[in-house]
Amino acid sequence: MSILIKNLTVSYQARPAVHHVDMIFPTGCMYAIFGPNGAGKSTLLKTMMGLLRCNTGSVEWQNLQRADIAYLPQQSDVDRSQPMSVFELAAMGLWYEIGFFGRVNPTQRERVQAALNRVDMGDFANRTINELSNGQFQRVLLARMLVQNAKFLLLDEPFNAVDAKTTYALLDVLRQENRQGKAVIAVLHDYEQVRAYFPHTFLIAREKIADGKTENVLTDELLSRANALAQAAEDDDWCE
Ligand code: ADP
Ligand code: MG
Repeated sequence: MSILIKNLTVSYQARPAVHHVDMIFPTGCMYAIFGPNGAGKSTLLKTMMGLLRCNTGSVEWQNLQRADIAYLPQQSDVDRSQPMSVFELAAMGLWYEIGFFGRVNPTQRERVQAALNRVDMGDFANRTINELSNGQFQRVLLARMLVQNAKFLLLDEPFNAVDAKTTYALLDVLRQENRQGKAVIAVLHDYEQVRAYFPHTFLIAREKIADGKTENVLTDELLSRANALAQAAEDDDWCE
């Protein structure tokens, strides 16, 4: 099982946001995706999910079905003003098993409750989601992901606007998932979090700058190269 990316270019209005990228995310990996603003990180994740079209190249899910890949987008896909309970939101992770109108059986109910317990939201199951802080809401979104029980977890800046205590609690949960064989691929922008939790890093600035062991990728030299490339891309935009 792996997600294989070959010579991938993805453009918006003819402007490439991801350019000739080759990469493989193998089963059980723990990868940070790192790069400057506008480097194409979200575009890459969306394309890996099949949400954007490849202009050239391909994304191949090798021995993976759609349900095997869970995705937490950068902008939440959930409207928090909906009158939905914490339990109901976490239970949306069962979608691939039961569809929109399916009933949650007792075993599934226990799984949802167990996922909420793991992110310390077990006591909040009956609250409505509009009562939650950002950190609590993000915990529930991670619980929804755990409920899906996918083999690959893709997360796009999951800790924005989330307090440090919650961030590290959720990083610990992601690490446990990885130790149980799940692949975790997360866009992050905090060096310390990446260094502490992610053995591998993929550095992107529209094109791939480097990938490999985090200590070999997050070097001053490679980070400056990524920043210089991102800056050059912005200057291009200015010229047009
Ligand atoms: P990152 O997540 O690394 O900050 P994105 O993948 O969101 O980068 O964006 C990469 C580039 O593509 C940026 O220049 C951004 O402005 C542009 N872009 C992203 N989404 C769109 C869109 N829907 N339409 C046009 N341009 C977009
Ligand atoms: Mg982004």
